[in-house]
Amino acid sequence: MPRGRKKADDVAEQAKARAVRRRLSSKRKEMSADEVKALADNILGRVYEALGVDLLGLRPEDIRDLVLDAVTGLAEGRVTKLTEEAALKRIVASKDGLLKAIAAKLLSERKVDSVERLQFVISYLPDVAGRAAPELYQLARRLGAQDVIDTLRQLWAQYGRPTPIACPRCGFLAVTPELTCMVCGAELSEAEIKRSLNFPKVIEDLASRLHPRLIEEILAAGYVVVDGDIEPPSMAFQGFKVILHLNREEREVLRKALQARQAQGGAAGQGV
Ligand SMILES: [Zn+2]
Repeated sequence: MPRGRKKADDVAEQAKARAVRRRLSSKRKEMSADEVKALADNILGRVYEALGVDLLGLRPEDIRDLVLDAVTGLAEGRVTKLTEEAALKRIVASKDGLLKAIAAKLLSERKVDSVERLQFVISYLPDVAGRAAPELYQLARRLGAQDVIDTLRQLWAQYGRPTPIACPRCGFLAVTPELTCMVCGAELSEAEIKRSLNFPKVIEDLASRLHPRLIEEILAAGYVVVDGDIEPPSMAFQGFKVILHLNREEREVLRKALQARQAQGGAAGQGV
């Protein structure tokens, strides 16, 4: 083949390839931002109805930006043009995603201000609600929503920062080593915590079950450690701990138990 001819063929081939690329790219042309926005606005009312968020006291314009985000996501990288019907269908089919986004928006904008919205956030974002329990608890109390408080208590234990000690006032596992409650904010006394733990019974249990050496240790230290269980200082788990000092009566119970056990041990020793 003559050289000139081959060159002409190449040029023709390249032109053809360019034309194909142009056709493809015009087919793949993404919607403009304005087109996406118009489509989102056109389906906003129908998305709003399908979600049922009127029950939360929300208006269509409250979810406009989230619907636009969803439509933008659907329009990206499409080969064919996105139609209103297709967008609506896709959004409604995966509406939980949008409902979660609405719950997150309500939380971040501090617009959780009714029992309905509280329940909504708890059902769609239980983990986030668990971590936000201190804030949501105050709100639930103001709204008198006891069932919401019960649910929050569980979510805090599951997703929040639970401690081994339940607060005597709010019941959340939220008492810190400084004896404050992370959820209701109570500043607690050792006496109040002891009452909630039924401390006289606890002391009796310790007196009957601990090795005399450990009872001696508690008496020498003058306190027990609460780390989930109630233990002598040397037995406590090395992380979280609350210290409860023993009063005279409590020390007396332990001392008597120790004397009784030592007398028993002595008698047994003499018998051998
Ligand atoms: Zn509390």
